[in-house]
Amino acid sequence: MAATVGDVFSLCMEPIKVCSYVEVRPIDKIKGKGLFAKRTIRKGDTIFIERPLVSAQFLWNSLYKYRACDFCLRSLETAQENARRLSGNASLLLPYPEQCSVRPEMHQACPQCQVMYCSSECQQAALDQYHRALCLGQSQEDPEHPINKLQEAWRNMHFPPETANIMLMARMVSTVKQARDKGHWLNLFSQFCSRTTNEEEEIAHKLLGEKFQGQLALLRNLFTTALYDDHLNRLCVLSFQWFSPEGFRSLFSLVGTNGQGIGTSSLSQWVHGCDTLELPGQQREQLDAFIDQLYKDIEKETGDFLNCEGSGLFLLQSSCNHSCVPNAEASFPNNNFLLHLTALCDISPGEEVCISYLDCCQRERSRHSRHKILRENYLFVCACPRCVSQAEDPDLTSEDDDEDGDGEGETEGDELEDEMTDV
Ligand SMILES: [Zn+2]
Ligand SMILES: [Zn+2]
Repeated sequence: MAATVGDVFSLCMEPIKVCSYVEVRPIDKIKGKGLFAKRTIRKGDTIFIERPLVSAQFLWNSLYKYRACDFCLRSLETAQENARRLSGNASLLLPYPEQCSVRPEMHQACPQCQVMYCSSECQQAALDQYHRALCLGQSQEDPEHPINKLQEAWRNMHFPPETANIMLMARMVSTVKQARDKGHWLNLFSQFCSRTTNEEEEIAHKLLGEKFQGQLALLRNLFTTALYDDHLNRLCVLSFQWFSPEGFRSLFSLVGTNGQGIGTSSLSQWVHGCDTLELPGQQREQLDAFIDQLYKDIEKETGDFLNCEGSGLFLLQSSCNHSCVPNAEASFPNNNFLLHLTALCDISPGEEVCISYLDCCQRERSRHSRHKILRENYLFVCACPRCVSQAEDPDLTSEDDDEDGDGEGETEGDELEDEMTDV
C-alpha cells in the first residue's frame, strides 16, 4: 500500500513549510517520481532539512577510530581535537572555540556495549528504534559474535570507498524487529525505488565485483545467522523476505542505490561558524588566513578522508532525480546526519528540483563519460538539458572516454569531501 504524501515529509523539519515549497510527483515509468517546486525558490535558500529514516557509519571509518555518535553520526571530537589529529599538530589552538558545538560532557556510552552517543537523546532514540535488537552487550570484542563475523566478512570484501553499508541493512531489519507498528516501517522502506531482478544483479555485480554471487550468498548467510528471527517471520512476511536470496538481493540493491553518503565534521562546522562571524577587517583577514593555512597543513598531513562518513536513507531527498546541471545540492553543515538541500540557483514554480549524483570532477567530464558512470552506478541514461544539447555535438564524446576506470566506485562520500575542501 502506498504511503500518504504526508509520510514523505514526515522526517523534515517544519514539514508544513516544506510542503508549501515542494511536492513529489510521478514523472513516468522510467524516471519514476521527482521533486518539483511549488513556488519560487531563491538561490541559496534551504529547501528542506531532513533526518534519515536510518543511518550508519561506514565500517572502515569506525575501524580507523573516527569517533562519531552511533546514532546521528556527529563527530565526537571537538573541532580542535579534530584539527590537531588531521594536521598532525598536537599543540594547535583554534581561536573562537565557542564556534564548536561538540560537548564532551554530554556524551553517553551504551551501558551494555559501550558504543558512544553525543547525547542521552541520541542514546534513547537509537535504543527506541533499533539498538535494543542490535546491542552486542559484552560480546562487542568477541570475533565469533554473528554481527562481528558479518562486519568482518564485509570488510574483507574491501571495496573502498564503501557505497553500500551492511550495518544500514542490519539496522533496517532491527528497526522492523523492534517496531510495534511493523507495517508502518515496511511501508516507509517500500517508498524507496525498487529494481527489477536484472537491475539488482547488475548493482550487486557493480558493488561486489566478479564474484558477487558467491559473496552475496556468503553475506546473506551471515546476515541471516545474525538477524533472523522466527517470530518475525510469523509476524510479518515482508521483512522475512529480506532473508530469502531474492529479498536479500533487493535489500542490498535498495541500500546500494538509495543510500545517501553522509559526512560529518566538527571542524567544518567550526569553519562555517567562523564564516558567519562579523569581524572588523583585520581580524577577518587574520582568521581567513589561519583557516587557509590549516587546510593546507591538513592536506599535507592527511589528504582525503577528513570526515566521519556513513550513509543513510532519506525519504524526501531520495525522490530527487539527477541532472548534470543540478539546481540543488545536499550537505551536512550541522556536524550530524541532518541533510540540508540548498538551491544552487533560482527555481521557478513547476520546475523539477535535481541534484547531481556525480561529484565535481565527474561533472566536468564528457557526456559519454558521465553517462557511463551513471549507467553503471545508478542504471539510467541521463537526459538532462546539458546531455540533450551535447548529444547533438558528436565532438564532445571523445578524449576521456577510455580512461574511465577511475570513475568506478566513487561515492557520495567523495562529493562530501569536495565540499569540505571548498570551505
Ligand atoms: Zn548523536
Ligand atoms: Zn549497546
